[in-house]
Amino acid sequence: MITSGAFSGRSYAVYGLARSGLATVEALLAGGASVMAWDEKEEARQKLRPTAEAALRIADPLVTSLYGFAGIVVSPGVPLNRHPIAARAREAKVPLTGDIELFAQARASLPPHKVVGITGTNGKSTTTALIHHIARTAGIPTLMGGNIGLPILAQDPLPAGGVYVLELSSYQIDLTQSLDCEVAVLLNVSPDHLDRYDGMDDYAGSKARLFAMQSQRHAAVIAGDDDYTRALAGAITGRLVLVSARDVKDSSQWPSLQGPHNAQNVAAAVAAARELGVADAAIAQALESFPGLPHRMERVAERGGVLFVNDSKATNPASAAPALAAYPAVHWILGGRPKSDDLDACEPWLGHVRAAYTIGEAGPRFAALLRPRVAVSECGELGRAVGAAAAAAREGEVVLLSPACASFDQFTDYEARGNAFRAAVEAL
Ligand code: ADP
Repeated sequence: MITSGAFSGRSYAVYGLARSGLATVEALLAGGASVMAWDEKEEARQKLRPTAEAALRIADPLVTSLYGFAGIVVSPGVPLNRHPIAARAREAKVPLTGDIELFAQARASLPPHKVVGITGTNGKSTTTALIHHIARTAGIPTLMGGNIGLPILAQDPLPAGGVYVLELSSYQIDLTQSLDCEVAVLLNVSPDHLDRYDGMDDYAGSKARLFAMQSQRHAAVIAGDDDYTRALAGAITGRLVLVSARDVKDSSQWPSLQGPHNAQNVAAAVAAARELGVADAAIAQALESFPGLPHRMERVAERGGVLFVNDSKATNPASAAPALAAYPAVHWILGGRPKSDDLDACEPWLGHVRAAYTIGEAGPRFAALLRPRVAVSECGELGRAVGAAAAAAREGEVVLLSPACASFDQFTDYEARGNAFRAAVEAL
């Protein structure tokens, strides 16, 4: 576990006890802090390891005095723009913070190391995993943490010379005050999460804070492929490394990095790796051997010349678009809980769509949008859509789950949706 004497003798409230919250409680206790922990859900509270430690108290900070606390460590899932914890913290003048900030404070007690922080609307996990893979290929001790689903505080510190590769959502950046990344990476900014921000400028401003926390000599790697990232790049006063998807000319040697979106991820990862001092030969080798991540344009089966691709992680139209772009003849399964009521980002690629199969809450709306352009079957649920798409697809075509929506109307998360797709394909 990663902890620090800096926590010693202080009191923290930890609000939200999913994976990172539980790891935070343990790290704070190990560092000598006292902790008041809470989750609105009883099952989550029960996951706190039974401990004899007097330093741990289970109580709701919404109804307990917060005076004297060093910080309220909030899970990034808590919507700060409307959750009462935010007002409570302000009243008590206690900072709202997160596990990434605690990591930042613990850095001084870790062996010498570097941190790469990756943010952007889409491509964060892929780029995080890719930078980690490049560092590992080059023989650098490295680990991944943050939004990729691996709480950073739960992991063991790296030896001297190590590189921590952190995937950072804007919610995590909002809860971080002092993380000075040696290399900070921004991939892209497109409309998403607007229920939690006061418009696009506010959302983009959250990403900008990752760079505002950097010292001047540290590198800002920014993919300048959209207006928001170009504007952010223009405001960097330190070391700017501007890259673009267009820098990548030939991806034929990289089986898990196909499609125009991955060109952006590669351009950013390569620049970040060079900033870490990795030699080009090791970078080239790593791009070839990168295994990819599940649920992101993952090839799950090939049957009778039809390829089945699981892109369940594409939860907004901007992230579904590159998957449509990557294949010329697609049977497209889409829908779920919509994040927008248009499919504008996918529009340029509708010529690749042989037929669409809609599911979930967005099904009727998306069917109406698509019908003037492509054949649509309103399937309602995923199993039926897989059956219909498989029956219609011809040799050389692709059945693609790239839903452009969140999964929560029909599944617990995008992983469950991707696993259900795989199971339906295997059962054909
Ligand atoms: P994140 O962690 O930011 O959600 P992932 O790497 O998990 O990103 O990819 C999520 C989805 O976004 C995938 O379905 C993928 O097809 C798409 N995607 C990946 N990289 C990019 C990019 N640079 N631009 C747009 N879409 C992308």
